[in-house]
Amino acid sequence: MSTPTNASLATIPIHAVGEKSSAFEYLTTKKDELLGWARKFSIFPYPFVTACCAMEFMAVSSSPYDTDRFGAALPRFSPRQADLLMVVGTISHKQATVLKTVYDQMCEPKWVMAFGACATSGGFYQNYAAVAGVDRIVPVDIYIPGCPPRPEMVIDGIMQLQDLIARSRHPIVNKDF
Ligand code: SF4
Repeated sequence: MSTPTNASLATIPIHAVGEKSSAFEYLTTKKDELLGWARKFSIFPYPFVTACCAMEFMAVSSSPYDTDRFGAALPRFSPRQADLLMVVGTISHKQATVLKTVYDQMCEPKWVMAFGACATSGGFYQNYAAVAGVDRIVPVDIYIPGCPPRPEMVIDGIMQLQDLIARSRHPIVNKDF
């Protein structure tokens, strides 16, 4: 009986080509659940604040609303340390490139929240200067309506984002695991 060589061992697939074993699926699912649970309670927001919605951001960050309950109370003012870009207020076309640069500097995985009517759709600014929704610049995961949105609506948005994170896949090695 011949001994398998390194070359022949290298071609042995872990599972049949085109299908994944149930053990592999189980491990992948449990890994995604664990990472999703950890990530949804450790959101680090980067507030990109430009206009009057800032007052509501300050309100929701105050102690009565206690966003620390959701693990989202600590804003980071470096995009490299943040995973949630909160676009708070009107974005002009001149600011659009800055917003895109900030988004690009954030590490993966990252999420974007459009905070208020202006960030969501341009609000009542129907003119050449305002961007009609930040989803024209960066991919938005959560939209918070309102002009300005109430803190309860922001908290609801954070909870919806947590659900989204928990239900997402969290690959750590390659696209399969
Ligand atoms: S949505 Fe309303 S409160 Fe918020 S930035 Fe726009 S105009 Fe101001």
